[in-house]
Amino acid sequence: MWRYAPLLPISSRWASRLAVGDTPLLSLGADDGVHLWVKDDSRNPSGSLKDRATELVLAAARWLGCTQVVTASTGNAGASLACIAASQKMPATVVVPRHTPYAKLAQIRAYGAQVQVIDGTYDHAFDVAISMADAPDVCCRNTGFNPFTREGKKTCAFEIAEALGWDVPDWVVVPTGDGNILSGIATGFLDLHALGITSRMPRLLAAQARSSHSIAHDWLMSGVSGALPSSPTPVRPNTLADSLSVSRPRDHLAALQALRMTQGECVVVTDAQIMASSQILSQRYGLWFEPSAAAGHAALSDAIACGRIEPGARVVLLGTGSGLKDPHACARVACDMEAAATDLGAFAPSICPGDMIDVPMRSRP
Ligand SMILES: *Cc1c(COP(=O)(O)O)cnc(C)c1O
Repeated sequence: MWRYAPLLPISSRWASRLAVGDTPLLSLGADDGVHLWVKDDSRNPSGSLKDRATELVLAAARWLGCTQVVTASTGNAGASLACIAASQKMPATVVVPRHTPYAKLAQIRAYGAQVQVIDGTYDHAFDVAISMADAPDVCCRNTGFNPFTREGKKTCAFEIAEALGWDVPDWVVVPTGDGNILSGIATGFLDLHALGITSRMPRLLAAQARSSHSIAHDWLMSGVSGALPSSPTPVRPNTLADSLSVSRPRDHLAALQALRMTQGECVVVTDAQIMASSQILSQRYGLWFEPSAAAGHAALSDAIACGRIEPGARVVLLGTGSGLKDPHACARVACDMEAAATDLGAFAPSICPGDMIDVPMRSRP
């Protein structure tokens, strides 16, 4: 990603040892009547798009003389900070809610970061991390709070445009929790447009989980009232897409502005839709993403079905995180489906063979 240094707010004073960015834009051809590409950001060093933000945050932290870093995380931001901080020999602390997926916790610990598990939600962890950074030599990476996260994530937009010959797709589908990827992608395309490198803006389709739908709600309300709300409407998330599980999105206003500036749309999807899409991406294309990333595909299917996205549109889906990040979520659904298929009723892990089988999805109670 440092190839784009002239368009970034600071330059790195350290040599990056890990290869962040430069991920492939995979052409999947015709899918559901649109031309589909997947930007496979699961191939970043820690397995998620978060590395783009972390890389820039750590460069800034060094620049400012910080010697320690801390972040709140639902898992991926913490794994990313732990990974890149390890490569730069910087001590890192990660504050996570108790229900963080096991694989993500294991990853954070493997890189040697301090883990503080709190009895609360991501939103609580967020405030704890900010208070821990209340010392001059500690940098807080919190998504949306640290301004460099958005700037790092915009490199993903640069790469998409470059891979398309400095053109832009009609739509980019963005899984959305805090809204920081959404604002980062919009910022990247705006930069290119402002510089005359590209001649138009893509439209952004934000994908939220149904129970974690603060941005979708406020986007809808702002369409009615014409004004953007100054603070997010709090919601009560309960979704297996843990990376999208946010009560009060921390990049709320910039996310709404991103939708407004790109004539965007916001779609909410259920866990059942997310897992159906996860299977399609894995079994049709060999792309296994974590549920939060599969939410983008689910939102796309929905937007096509209700005519929001026109047939023949050129669409890029962001593959934000690897399926290995949360194998348990996928296994759980496979078990549910097995139970449904054999009419065993309730979820019974002991009889799950672990194989994905092709039966219609049933909503979880
Ligand atoms: C963090 C994350 C998201 C959501 O990004 P926000 O900036 O919180 O909207 C989506 N998918 C994955 C895999 C993530 O790690």
